[in-house]
Amino acid sequence: MTMKTFKLRIYPNATQRLQFERNFGMCRFVWNELLNMQTKRHENGGKYVNEFGMNYLLKPLKQEYPWLKEADATSLLGVSHNLHLAFQKLFKAHAGYPKFKAKRFARPAYRSNAVNGNIALVDEAHIRLPKVGMIRFRAGQLPKGKIKTATVVRSRVGKYYVLVAADVEISSWQNADASVGIDMGVADLVITSDGKKYVTKRFDKALAKKKHYWEKRLARRRRQAEKEIAWDKQLKVVAPRQLSDFKNYMKAKVMVAKYSEKVANQRHDYLQKISTELVSKYDVIKLEDLKTKGLLRNHNLARAIANQSWRELRLMLEYKAAWYGKKVVSVLPYKTSQRCSKCGYDDGKHELNVREWTCPRCHTHHDRDINAAKNILAA
Ligand SMILES: [Zn+2]
Repeated sequence: MTMKTFKLRIYPNATQRLQFERNFGMCRFVWNELLNMQTKRHENGGKYVNEFGMNYLLKPLKQEYPWLKEADATSLLGVSHNLHLAFQKLFKAHAGYPKFKAKRFARPAYRSNAVNGNIALVDEAHIRLPKVGMIRFRAGQLPKGKIKTATVVRSRVGKYYVLVAADVEISSWQNADASVGIDMGVADLVITSDGKKYVTKRFDKALAKKKHYWEKRLARRRRQAEKEIAWDKQLKVVAPRQLSDFKNYMKAKVMVAKYSEKVANQRHDYLQKISTELVSKYDVIKLEDLKTKGLLRNHNLARAIANQSWRELRLMLEYKAAWYGKKVVSVLPYKTSQRCSKCGYDDGKHELNVREWTCPRCHTHHDRDINAAKNILAA
């Protein structure tokens, strides 16, 4: 059994949206109340109240603020759990003191725990969530297994998602009984020792024009808004406007975020496709240790994007391999691009522009990257 998370795009109606928003707000409120209580106690020399103790405090809190009963009760337990984790980080890892959540900055989210079938798949397009009932969804992969939690989130552009965590049985995939070495590059993102290349797709370029259009507007509208705010202050207006009061500015902000999100989603989907293909096809995947790739030095954008993609891809390969009982092996590259993968002859350093070469000893003609992937496989 492994815990697996499924991301579902959900389409709430107006009533459900309102309930989500109220639940976000109530969780934020409870977080702030509990945090305030812990802080005050500490100032008065009292001891830290643990998760269990905080859960116990929810009852009197609900009596004081009866509207809290409208929240999904398990989501409030989730708040004390998260706050407890935040304090554990402070105590054990010396992380910063937990912060109060302001409406404008807090990530809108809450987590419900599965109890008595309160979270359940109704059919292939509907899920039931506590307090909001049945809701339509779309997902790349249908959740399976025993549902443990459901986290409702609103993205920066106002889309709602639910992240369903479930215990799933690992189905052993057909044993491909094969190993592969993969090299990661800039022009080609992935090159396999079998000779397959996955090109690097620049999703950012495809949307760059539109994004830039909105970025320019955003900057201009921000300057204008700041000017007007400065006037408000100069004129000693009772309630000077804030950036969030400027509708056009806020709209541009959402548009910029929308394009960033789109690029991230497209890239994510592409990496998912590659990693699924590799994990389903091979039992053992060998790849170069990323530390040696000089990830910190990325002066150009293509290189920076490649670095980011390699990291993401690597994580995907690792967790997918874990689900399906396959293996990802990290190898230390040693002259992978200058040694002949067939006879081992060391041809000396090849400049980056040398894409193909012929081994002087065994006369094998090599594609630079595929040869490197073969060396990684053999390592
Ligand atoms: Zn050779």
